[in-house]
Amino acid sequence: MTVFNHVSFDDHENVVFCHDKQSGLKAIIAVHNTNLGPAVGGCRMWNYNSDDEAINDVLRLSRGMTYKNALAGLTMGGGKAVIIADPKTTDREALFLAFGRAINKLGGTYYSAEDVGVSTSDIMIANRETPYVAGLEGKSGDPSPYTALGTYLGIKAAVKHQRGVDSLKGLKISVQGVGHVGYYLCKHLHEEGAELIVTDIHQASLDKVATEFGAKIVAPEDIYAQEVDVYAPCALGATINDTTIPLLKASIVAGCANNQLAEVRHGEKLKQMGVLYAPDYVINAGGIINVSFESDYDAAKSTAKVEKIYDTLLQIFSKADEENRTTADVADEMAKHIIDAAAKS
Ligand code: NAD
Repeated sequence: MTVFNHVSFDDHENVVFCHDKQSGLKAIIAVHNTNLGPAVGGCRMWNYNSDDEAINDVLRLSRGMTYKNALAGLTMGGGKAVIIADPKTTDREALFLAFGRAINKLGGTYYSAEDVGVSTSDIMIANRETPYVAGLEGKSGDPSPYTALGTYLGIKAAVKHQRGVDSLKGLKISVQGVGHVGYYLCKHLHEEGAELIVTDIHQASLDKVATEFGAKIVAPEDIYAQEVDVYAPCALGATINDTTIPLLKASIVAGCANNQLAEVRHGEKLKQMGVLYAPDYVINAGGIINVSFESDYDAAKSTAKVEKIYDTLLQIFSKADEENRTTADVADEMAKHIIDAAAKS
């Protein structure tokens, strides 16, 4: 196992391995870059198959947060934490208290929040040991509805750019993962008249969107080959890969999942196929934008800033066309420019 030579290591400032014998906490916190401010990014709890898988995830996710926060215009750096454990663990108090102590030791260089497998109530527990957490109940709260709003507007931007239309009415949209964000996304899409095809591994979540929004349910392995206009990955990362790309019928890939492209070359492949890809960290920034208002919460200001995701994506799509580059490459360049400028100031 290696960190400095790891394929996903990207000049991360700090990678901390945390262990607490009593609670059984095994976590990794990665601070990628603090040029723009303290690193902020959620904590994911997952049954990783190996420590290396967890390291890869935290290195990639924390880098994504630096880029996401920069392009969203936030004065925050990028970081992320992963807890290696079953996300369905019921005995969570000791675990999240220990996690809170681990964050506290970083002295405010990293602020945590919820992510996959972690809820706001877990972060409330960590908050008993550290002030360096965000997305708390009674403050900015659950970021998911804001992530969903940004993702919905991002899908509209992609449709506008590719087809010149403002409405999603009658479009077929497949959604992989109808959890916290996926549910609210389906609500927006349904209210605008889109036809939904959904999948998940959790039956109760599927039943809810089928009942409330008339969504058609398909098996997880069948989601990629659906005859749809837009594919929205809203579960885990790396679902755009060598196996799934040949199956895709959608001409737009736009969803909230982090790290959707398994590798950079998969973005190039989508471009060659004429598939418009909305870079994940741009379209899914709504939640972190909402979290950035934590200290002096204002829902209207937060919503107005989330709505800017639409314009940022239109700018990226146009530049990518003009320069014959991938949208992911253009987004990275724009973000790097902001991060490098902050280092010099
Ligand atoms: P979540 O855990 O609430 O939802 C994920 C859903 O995906 C769950 O319902 C789960 O059962 C389902 N799922 C897991 N594996 C699957 C598979 N193989 N096939 C189909 N469905 C599967 O998480 P969330 O908060 O909704 O986040 C979803 C994605 O968006 C994650 O990648 C997360 O990192 C990203 N994201 C979330 C936020 C946020 O505000 N919550 C912000 C930015 C990015």
